[in-house]
Amino acid sequence: MSRIVLASRNHHKVEELREILSDACARLGAEIVGLDEFPEAPDVVEDGITFVENAILKATSAARATGLPALADDSGLTVQILGGCPGIFSARWSGGGGDRANLELLLAQLGDVRDEHRAAAFVCAAALVLPDGRSAVEIGSLPGAVARAARGDRGFGYDPIFVPAGQDDGHERTLAEYRAEEKNGVSHRFLAFRGLAPHLKELLTT
Ligand code: IMP
Repeated sequence: MSRIVLASRNHHKVEELREILSDACARLGAEIVGLDEFPEAPDVVEDGITFVENAILKATSAARATGLPALADDSGLTVQILGGCPGIFSARWSGGGGDRANLELLLAQLGDVRDEHRAAAFVCAAALVLPDGRSAVEIGSLPGAVARAARGDRGFGYDPIFVPAGQDDGHERTLAEYRAEEKNGVSHRFLAFRGLAPHLKELLTT
């Protein structure tokens, strides 16, 4: 069985991706492994200025370090009225205070913003880079809006203040009120990696 490395040392991400790409991997006879199997692989400075650049940086570094086809993603929350911020700065929006501080700062910044101007989207760029330099990138986006207060205790990051669009059951839940499987079936990450699956087949079989 051939291996594809995901440029992450996070077990949850590796498991999530195995599930998203299970069909594609089964057809290719490939398995996804995490970067923790390669302790010598260097940490990457994510100094790109877009999600796409950062995803390619991470995948390129992993492909070089392991000699395997490498997958990577970069994601964040983009808020329309903030010109797309926090965007690539999502993880460190509060200057390193962590998920709760990030979310509270964003809520405070949008304090006086009316409901109709609170549009936002979770965005993910997923990259595949081969050791010979060939590559592909796909973007996944989950549109919605920033809530007025945090609700729900599932998920992570900005989930408690993000309300996905298109909920027509009268009760607008935040992503932190979605069950894990439910979120994983609509998420920006799911959409980006699902978009990448055909490239995986094309690039790994030619
Ligand atoms: P990463 O690129 O997946 O490491 O995500 C960067 C940051 O974006 C995270 O630290 C979160 O603040 C935010 N983010 C990305 N995806 C999600 C999500 O699905 N829910 C909530 N926050 C997210």
